Amino acid sequence: MYKDIIDFIRNIYKTDEFIPLHEPRFRGNEKKYINECIDSTFVSSVGKFVDQFEASVAKFTGAKYAIATVNGTAALHIGLLLSDVQPNDEVITQPLTFVATANAISYCNAFPVFIDVDVDTMGLSPEKLSDFLNKNTELIDGKCVNKTTKRIIKAVVPMHTFGLPARIDEIVLVCKKHHINVVEDAAESLGSYYKNQHTGTFGLIGTLSFNGNKTITTGGGGMLITNDETIAKKAKHITTTAKTPHLWDYNHDVTAYNYRLPNLNAALGCAQMESLPEYLKNKQKLAKIYKDFFKNENTIDFIEPVKNGTSNFWLNAIKFDSLESRNTFLEITNNKGVMTRPIWKLMNTLPMYSSAQCGNLDNARTLENRIVNLPSSVI
Ligand SMILES: *Cc1c(COP(=O)(O)O)cnc(C)c1O
Repeated sequence: MYKDIIDFIRNIYKTDEFIPLHEPRFRGNEKKYINECIDSTFVSSVGKFVDQFEASVAKFTGAKYAIATVNGTAALHIGLLLSDVQPNDEVITQPLTFVATANAISYCNAFPVFIDVDVDTMGLSPEKLSDFLNKNTELIDGKCVNKTTKRIIKAVVPMHTFGLPARIDEIVLVCKKHHINVVEDAAESLGSYYKNQHTGTFGLIGTLSFNGNKTITTGGGGMLITNDETIAKKAKHITTTAKTPHLWDYNHDVTAYNYRLPNLNAALGCAQMESLPEYLKNKQKLAKIYKDFFKNENTIDFIEPVKNGTSNFWLNAIKFDSLESRNTFLEITNNKGVMTRPIWKLMNTLPMYSSAQCGNLDNARTLENRIVNLPSSVI
C-alpha cells in the first residue's frame, strides 16, 4: 500500500536515502557573504548585511519597512506588543497553527481565543470571526470588549497555513469594523500573494520566519514588516534593548528586548534572498508534479490555493478521506524513510491552552485528522 506514492517521491528527489520534509539549499553566495561578514568583524547585531537583508525583504514584499529579529516568534511577540496588546487583553487566532503563534500571545500575558479556519484556505475564517465578534463582543469607548470575559480584544492573528493565503482582505475588514488590529503570521508564506498583494502586508503588521525549515533560512531569524513608520521605529528600538543613540552613554528608556538578528545570520539571508525567485519557481514546479500525480488518487486530495491566491507551496499538503488512512500513510512513509508529517494538533488541546475560549471549531477538527505534509524541499 502507498508504494506507488513512495516510489514517486523517491523519483522526484532521485535518492534511496532518507528524504526530509524540508531541508535548506545553499547554492548561491552564502559562503562568500558569511566569510565577508567574519572578515569585517561585524558578526553581531549591527552591520551592513542586516540593513541589506531588511531592504531586500521590504522590496520583495512591498512593505515600506522591515525589521529583522532573532526568530519569527520574537517578531510576533514584538508585533503584538506594538498592536497595544497588554496584560489581560485577548488576542484571537486560529487553533490550527504552529505553537509559536499562541505562545507569542502568552508572552504578552494576554489570552488567546481560538476561532475556526476555512476548510479550503486552512486559515482563519472571516465569516466565523465576524459571527463570533457580532455575537460575543460590544464596543465600549472604542474598544472591542468580550462580553463573556470582560477583557478587551486587541488583536487578531491570522496565519497563512503552509503558504496558502487566508482570505485576508475580508479578515482585515471585519477587524476594522470591530476596532481590532491585525498582525499577520506570515511565517510560512514568504512569496505567497492574495489578490496580487504579498501576504503579511494587509494588516497593521506582518511577521516572517527564516528558521531552517522555512522557504529561505538565516539559520534562525525573523522579520517584522509594516507600512507604519512609527511602528517600524518602535520595533527597531525595543528589539535593541531600547538604547537611545549616543556616542558613549548607555541610555535605555523602557524595559526592552535583545531580539535583533545578528549580522552573521543576515549575511546568510542576503544570499538566500537572491535565490528566492528561483526557489519559488522550483516549488511551483514541484507542486504541479504532486498535483498531477494525486489527480489519479480518488481518496486523496492535493490542497491548492483558493481563487485569487498564490501559494509559495512551502509545504505541499494532501487531505485523506479518513483518520485511519491518514495514519496508515504516516506510518508507512515514515518507516520507509520518506518523511511526512500530520498537521498540528489544535492549540486548544495543548495543556497550556486547554482553558482558552473557543468558537465552533468543526473545520479545524476535521482538518486536524486529515491533512498530511509531503517532502517539499527545493529539488
Ligand atoms: C515557523 C513559524 C513561526 C516562527 O518560528 P520561529 O522558529 O520562531 O522562527 C511562527 N508561526 C508559524 C505558523 C510558523 O510556522
